[in-house]
Amino acid sequence: MIVVIIKENFCLAPFNTFGIEVLAYNLSIITNISNLEQLHKAGKLKGRVLVLSKGSNILFTKNFDGLVLLNQMWGKEIIKETAQYIYLKVNAGEFWPSLVEYAVENGWGGLENMTDIPGKVGAAPIQNIGAYGAEIKDVMESLEAFNLDSGEVETFSNKDCKFSYRTSIFKTEFKHKYFITSVTFKLSKQHSLNISYKPLFEAFRDKNIDDITIADVSSEVAKIRASKLPNPDNLKNAGSFFKNPVVSKDKFNEIKLSYPDIPNYPLVNGDYKVPAAWLIEQCGWKGKRQGNIGVHEKQALVIVKYGKASGNEIKQLADSIKNSISKKFNIELEMEVNIL
Ligand SMILES: Cc1cc2nc3c(=O)[nH]c(=O)nc-3n(C[C@H](O)[C@H](O)[C@H](O)COP(=O)(O)OP(=O)(O)OC[C@H]3O[C@@H](n4cnc5c(N)ncnc54)[C@H](O)[C@@H]3O)c2cc1C
Repeated sequence: MIVVIIKENFCLAPFNTFGIEVLAYNLSIITNISNLEQLHKAGKLKGRVLVLSKGSNILFTKNFDGLVLLNQMWGKEIIKETAQYIYLKVNAGEFWPSLVEYAVENGWGGLENMTDIPGKVGAAPIQNIGAYGAEIKDVMESLEAFNLDSGEVETFSNKDCKFSYRTSIFKTEFKHKYFITSVTFKLSKQHSLNISYKPLFEAFRDKNIDDITIADVSSEVAKIRASKLPNPDNLKNAGSFFKNPVVSKDKFNEIKLSYPDIPNYPLVNGDYKVPAAWLIEQCGWKGKRQGNIGVHEKQALVIVKYGKASGNEIKQLADSIKNSISKKFNIELEMEVNIL
């Protein structure tokens, strides 16, 4: 029997996009389901376990005193094809931007608005990733996940995942209970483009919709993202640090009295989504730097790390931002990044 190797006191700096230097007491590289089965059989999944993919949505504030399962499950295959759809099963360790590129190159639509989100496929359903008016819930058929308690592989339908804005069942009741091993996507051969999101709409304003391809949408998204968001390879960050808060109509109208230009997205239930970036900007945080950390100058939602800094310093900055918004607007921001 092949024994899965468990490394001790393993530095996680290269495995999180903030580049935080913490240790995993134990770490095992997972390339297939039988690695997980062996660890389960050996009783190694009973204590604290963390599944780590690309580390682009995590802030480590201390060493991880348990077992890190590093997701490196590569591979993808078409499992079904109809006149209209391709059903593509993708293993959890595939890099999301490469998957989007592959789908666009093959002319399969549905992922193009989510170009360049820098995580791995297995992590994408956890917070129902989304960008420019699209979310993974719009294109995910099902997923397979290894139950860390029972050692069984289970299938979850789209509905089972209880997706909503930046969350799923895997961020709530099943948090840290499963290792998602693969995701199956239903991609369309006949495209219906989604360019309603303002920056995309503006970019294509002068074009006839029939002349726009999914490759055009993907490259426009890449361009817009590159102009606003720092690339973690050059400037360490974990993307949007906070979720956009949802407030009641009364609360929204109250803020509007003092801030008539407040940007907003009305929701079907009568509530309003307010951009967290705008709130942060109103509190004077945009572009502010404290030592080696700060708030990005072009996107106030992103906390960046310029040099050596600890996860705790970043967490303290995030708390200060949260407190000032609570004080000024009486709105409680929720962190999108997973704090560990
Ligand atoms: C510059 C930048 C831009 C970004 N833009 C966006 C954006 O537009 N939209 C968006 O939604 N997000 C965005 N993100 C956030 C992030 O890229 C996504 O949330 C991504 O899906 C995280 O993937 P990951 O592989 O890095 O996950 P990780 O950070 O490794 O993990 C995130 C969480 O998921 C869990 N997890 C990871 N893999 C698995 C698995 N296989 N099974 C079970 N649990 C797992 C982890 O334990 C952790 O709790 C951005 C981040 C950066 C740095």
